[in-house]
Amino acid sequence: MSTLVNELPDISGIGGHWTVAPARDCVTGGRIQVGRAVFAGRQWPREPKDCVCVRGDWYLDGNLLLCSDCGTDGT
Ligand SMILES: [Zn+2]
Repeated sequence: MSTLVNELPDISGIGGHWTVAPARDCVTGGRIQVGRAVFAGRQWPREPKDCVCVRGDWYLDGNLLLCSDCGTDGT
C-alpha cells in the first residue's frame, strides 16, 4: 500500500482525486496517513482507520486497486 500521495497514479481522467486520510498500520498498529481516492457523488462505506481492506476494485485498466470499502490504494 502506498502511503505517499505523490506516488499515486493520476485518477483525474476517471473523475477522481486523492486526499490523505488517517489509517492504522496493519503491521505495527501505529497511525499512518494513506492516500484515499475521492470520486464526485461517491461515498465510501468505511473510514480507512476502521477498515480491514479485504476486497477491492481495479481501475485504470488494471493498474490501480482501490479498497471497495474505504477507497484507499491497495495496489
Ligand atoms: Zn479499506
